[in-house]
Amino acid sequence: MMLLGTSCLITQASVDTRGRPQVSLRLTIDGVTRRYHFRPWHLTWFYKYGPIPDTTLQYSHRCHNEMCINPEHGVWETDQQNKDRNSCRTGSHLILPDRTVVTLCPHNPCCLTPVYLSSWDDTRVVARPGNNSNSSNNSSSNDTTV
Ligand SMILES: [Zn+2]
Ligand SMILES: [Zn+2]
Repeated sequence: MMLLGTSCLITQASVDTRGRPQVSLRLTIDGVTRRYHFRPWHLTWFYKYGPIPDTTLQYSHRCHNEMCINPEHGVWETDQQNKDRNSCRTGSHLILPDRTVVTLCPHNPCCLTPVYLSSWDDTRVVARPGNNSNSSNNSSSNDTTV
């Protein structure tokens, strides 16, 4: 599903004692060789975007998936901003049966934990389209695929 961007990329790295994935690399720096441990999402971020913008910030998973290393799902922010995202752990967007997206997430950039509803009877439907300022020109109710 590409509605909210790319899918998670799940790392195969082994996990540390806290259950968080970790990659270790043997590096020689200034003539000293030792093993360095990295979070795999730091490496994929670096590979795609370059140096980490501010080392005082934390890497937040917008998808709330700690095994995900998709750099598009990461954002650097403060510890407080990172913790604030916990409110979206159970759902950042509702995807209604007609594919209307209802945004619940207040964060910027937004979290990526969409909840897909297959029925209008679902109790999680908190807002229905068409009531306010919904001028969607995508009236594609005929191309429903099963
Ligand atoms: Zn992800
Ligand atoms: Zn959020």
